[in-house]
Amino acid sequence: MLKGKTALVTGSTSGIGLGLAKALAAEGANLVLNGFGDVAAAQAQIQALGVQVAYHGADMSRPAEIEAMMGFAAERFGRVDILVNNAGIQHVAKIEDFPVERWDAVIAINLSSAFHATRLALPAMKAANWGRIINVASVHGLVASAEKAAYVAAKHGIVGLTKVTALETATTGVTCNAICPGWVLTPLVQKQVDARAQALGLSNEEAKRLLLGEKEPSMQFTTPEELGALAVFFCSAAGNNVRGAAWNMDGGWAAQ
Ligand code: NAD
Repeated sequence: MLKGKTALVTGSTSGIGLGLAKALAAEGANLVLNGFGDVAAAQAQIQALGVQVAYHGADMSRPAEIEAMMGFAAERFGRVDILVNNAGIQHVAKIEDFPVERWDAVIAINLSSAFHATRLALPAMKAANWGRIINVASVHGLVASAEKAAYVAAKHGIVGLTKVTALETATTGVTCNAICPGWVLTPLVQKQVDARAQALGLSNEEAKRLLLGEKEPSMQFTTPEELGALAVFFCSAAGNNVRGAAWNMDGGWAAQ
């Protein structure tokens, strides 16, 4: 379905980003990967799906590096047809104890990076009259949790950015939507499971059940594969007029 298209997924060396990249590659899209850690393993997983893959190591907290990455993608593949703004970090602390430097980093990586990548991707998408911008927000783009001030602010912000992008592209073939997952068992969440296990003297399994039980009525983690299927739907012809949605896949979290 996406043969001949190019997708750029930020933060795609791990977790949800890698899952979304694999889902888009499985539909035939060429991929530009980004993120830190085991780049070779991520690249190999995409290559195995028979598409072209490139990598750019832009630090998404730095606008100049984001600009370099978008230029690299255009040079390598002509243009970015599908932009997935996924890179994100978490920091958990009460507002009065929240390190100022962590606030700035969460806002830069989880919110401002999406603005920069979007502003740089839109001209070519509009010229081609086709494009998909998918923002990986969170159920924390819709509701709050204590001790996640920066994350909740950034995720509510990216839901707002999604709506503005959708309005500014409404009469074109470019769409913009957000995905709002509940708990997904990635390294970002495993850290929170580990913190609980350590603080309360629980096993890994007990800490996972506690985490789910607090918020997610289904008592199930959403998987990167399930999120990938939603991203593929947004890219399909059936998604042509889905604009500005903030679509939760959260096991009923936000329904409460
Ligand atoms: P993860 O830690 O597994 O992956 C994060 C990715 O972002 C990695 O590839 C990492 O290298 C990259 N990254 C981090 N800082 C970066 C930077 N400065 N520049 C470039 N890349 C950077 O986390 P994940 O759980 O897969 O999270 C991905 C997205 O999904 C985030 O936006 C997160 O907020 C969102 N999300 C996650 C969950 C969850 O339960 N895991 C739920 C809702 C939303």
